[in-house]
Formats: sequence, C-alpha cells, structure tokens
Amino acid sequence: MAKYIFVTGGVVSSVGKGIAVASIGTLLKSRQIKVAAQKNDPYLNVDPGTLSPYQHGEVFVTQDGAETDLDLGHYERFIGIDLTKASSITTGQVYSSIIEQERKGIFLGGTIQVVPHVTNEIKRRIKQVAEVSGADVVIAEIGGTVGDIEGLPFLEAIRQMRRDEGRDNLLYVHVTFLPHIAATDELKTKPTQHSVNELRRIGIQPDVILCRSDREMPKEIRDKIALFCDVDSEAVIPLATSETIYEVPLLLEDAGLADFIVSHLGLKAESSDLDDWRRMVYRLKSPKELVKIGLVGKYVELKDAYYSIREALGHAALFHDREVQIDWIDSEELEGGHYDRLKKVQGIIVPGGFGYRGIGGMMEAATYARVHKVPYLGICLGMQVMVIEFARHVFNSSDPDSTEFNPTTLYPVIDLLPDQRIIADKGGTMRKGSYPCQLLPGSRAARSYEVVLVHERHRHRYEFNNQFRTRLQEEGLVYSGVSPDGLIVEMCEISDHPWMVGCQFHPEFRSRPNQPHPLFRGFIDAAKDVLIDESQAPLPLPQNT
Ligand code: GLN
Repeated sequence: MAKYIFVTGGVVSSVGKGIAVASIGTLLKSRQIKVAAQKNDPYLNVDPGTLSPYQHGEVFVTQDGAETDLDLGHYERFIGIDLTKASSITTGQVYSSIIEQERKGIFLGGTIQVVPHVTNEIKRRIKQVAEVSGADVVIAEIGGTVGDIEGLPFLEAIRQMRRDEGRDNLLYVHVTFLPHIAATDELKTKPTQHSVNELRRIGIQPDVILCRSDREMPKEIRDKIALFCDVDSEAVIPLATSETIYEVPLLLEDAGLADFIVSHLGLKAESSDLDDWRRMVYRLKSPKELVKIGLVGKYVELKDAYYSIREALGHAALFHDREVQIDWIDSEELEGGHYDRLKKVQGIIVPGGFGYRGIGGMMEAATYARVHKVPYLGICLGMQVMVIEFARHVFNSSDPDSTEFNPTTLYPVIDLLPDQRIIADKGGTMRKGSYPCQLLPGSRAARSYEVVLVHERHRHRYEFNNQFRTRLQEEGLVYSGVSPDGLIVEMCEISDHPWMVGCQFHPEFRSRPNQPHPLFRGFIDAAKDVLIDESQAPLPLPQNT
C-alpha cells in the first residue's frame, strides 16, 4: 500500500513548493524508494494548456500527452521519472467529471456537494497516482497558499485521507517563508505561526515545517517554530535560498529531512546514494567558461515560459563544462534585420509558440543562422520557422508560410494534415504526447542521439507539408527524423551548415541535469567553439534569403 506526503504552502506563493516536492522525491529515490509526484492545482481551468504563458509560464507535456503545470517538469527532472496524466489535477477537471456524472444520473438524484462529492473525487485522483505508478510513496503538492478559498476542498480531502489511509501512512509538509527584517537583522516566525494556525483550523497539523528564507536560520528560530507550531525540532527544516535549485535536495538531506520522513512513515529504505548528484552540483557551482546562446521568442520577458528549455540548455552546457548565458531576445526586436544581439551569441534557439506575433523576427533569426552558419536549434515552431525560411530562400519569394499564419499562401510548407482539416474543433486537432521518430543514419540528429529510434513529446497542430518534401530536399533540406511509417517529417536539418537542426517535438521535456538531452548536447557542442567577433559588421544578407 502506498504512503502519501502532502505538501502545502503558506505565507506567500512562489516559495518553492515545487522544488521542495521534487527534492523530497530525489532524496527518497536515492534510498531506492519508488516515488511518484502529483500537482493539485485549485484553479478552475481544466488544464494549463489554454492558459496564457504570461499567467502560467510554460505548459509541461507528459509522455502520455497531458498539458500540465511546470512543476511537473521539476518533478521529472529531479526524480528522473516520467509522469502521466494522473499526476496533474485541477479543480476544473474535478468539477467537469462530477458534473458529467451528475448529467448521466449516476448520483441517482442525490444532492451533489463539495463534501463528500468533490473531496471524494479529489481523493480518488490522488490515490490513482499510486495505482498507475505502483509507487511506494506519492508526494502530492497542493497549489496555492493555505487560506485561498479555492484550495479548501483539496485541504479537506487530504485531511480526510489521514483517517482513510491511517495516520502512520501519511505525512504533512508545510512550506513557509521567513521574512528578514533589515533594521533588526532577524528572521521573523510570526507569518509561519499564522499559516500553521490556519492549517490547523482546517484540521491539519503539519509534521514537517520547511522554512524558506533568504538568510541562514539560527537555531533559536528553529526551536521557536518547533515550540509554537508543535512539531519536533528536527522536523523544522531550514531552506535558505541556494545558488542553484539542484542544491536543494542536498540541503534537505543535510538537514535530516529524508531520515525523518523514512522513520515517520516506516519506509523500507537503503542508505542514501547522492554521490552523482553531489558531483553534479559541485560542477554546476564551479566557475566555467561561458557559452552564449540567443533565445528568440515572444515571451522572453517572462523566463518561466521557456523553463524547460532554459534547464535543458544548462544541463547540456554542464556536460561540456560550460555555463550557459542566455540572451533573451524578443523576436519582434529583430524585425527589419536588427541583428546586433545575434552577433554576440554562439548559437540561436527558436522555441515553440503559437500565433503570428513575432514570427517575422524568428524568421530573421533563422536567416541569420543559415547565412552566417551559426548553430541553430528550432523546436516545434522553431522547426516550422526554419522550414518556411528555407522555402522562402529556395523559391525566392516571401510567400512560403504556414497556413497557421497565412491560410491562402501558394506555398503552404507547414500545414494541417489532410484528416486534421475535417475536425473543426481546434483543441481536438493537437498532436500531443510521445511519438516515435526514426533517425537518418549519418545525420547530425542521429550523430547526436547515437541511436536510430527515439520517442519524443509533441504539442502542436501543424506539420511539415509532404508536397514540398522532394523539392526542398533537392535544395539541401535533410529529413533527419521521420515517423516510422515515413509519412511525417519529425526533424530536418540544412545540409550545407555546421549545425542547423529543427525538431517538430519538444526535446526539452526529457532533459535531466545528469542526463542532458542529446539534441541540446549536440547544439551546445556546435555552439561552444563558435568565435564571436563583435567588432565585425554582420555580412549583408541578400534579399529574400
Ligand atoms: N503553432 C505551431 C503548431 O501548432 C507550433 C506549436 C509549438 O511550437 N508548440 O503547430
């Protein structure tokens, strides 16, 4: 039977609950305990798929195609597991399924209430994670902050689970924040006390209080929190802001959190093996030469929108003993050929995206990369941009386009697949989740992956249009990855270029700190030796190239 760790947050949001969950997972896994993780988001949206990146950051895609919160990315990267749909729930999902059942008459005319119907559905979905994963321990994070109105049903559900599962089989971790008062140079515990009181009012007494702060926490503060909040002193865990998020598991390990959890839950555990992780963090923190990458996108002021890409670049750079420095370039800034910032980077990455805004600038970035032979990695939209740009050059016309941006183009090099057009409902046509991709031996893609068949995660609607396959191939576009039936172009590259590779999928979701993704590794490998000569004016670009 699985055991549960519930992680709630108090005092302020953005206090690092997701990293805490991921780190606890790392520590338990290092003791050979099988772990799964789940994010419970109390908002009413059914999933983050349609939420604006401005409000919600990146949409993380699981291998089974769920569009989820970016915290799942932390869980996967830290714990080194692939999660499923079951690991992401929202109030929207919970209510939709209850209302659907109600409409079918499944409740036989009973009155549907938050308790027990909503709470039962939440509990069912939490337990489902244990079932589908077969994990020994499920770590479930409750989004938001204690005291939020919409979070109440979730807190009530996890409170009830103490009775359902037995109090020895679950553990409540509350993550709070200790503000620092400069005038007296002290960390304050009062907000933590209030937040714990609020949690108790709902019926939950935390077993562990994880105290995030920007300064080291002195022992007397630890004792004070233990006394006022009625937890063991060793269960008040300090978590001072660290240089890198990957250090958090080590800080929690050294503070004794995992040992406390193992003994509290009576888990069968091996001794912890964090040697590789420690080495990785040590290398991460040591000074390294920079590799400068320009990321050209439309949400660059909000770096969370490209969270997994940023991490994947960092993992790959570390592999090559470099530190990545990303220049976040707003694609609209490049429109009209303002290449100055591109001159100062060793590689260009164009990430995924939807809609027309900023496409012109991405196109300029692809032209610049192609003509100046700068390493380029195009992800999803970034591959489509690369194909369109190449076609404009080949046909010597500015008309080639994606039908997403120009439905009447004479050269729809990126288009919906024929059977997709029939489905009017936009949401229904998206290709999501993991699909196989066969690599072309000898291509840059195959050389990076070092295997011939890979499975990568998708989230897009448009595809490379096969009508143009032969013509573009004749001109030097190489289809380095195709679906095993040969029908869908999944990857392409420019033959006459050191490293210009596009992929229709999102490799960033599979990168791990100790296992960088092969494509990012290949990209950084090509970029790291590019010499930047800022004094040199960029070569004039021919019209329509
Ligand atoms: N907008 C493009 C499509 O729908 C690309 C999507 C993406 O980059 N994720 O196909």
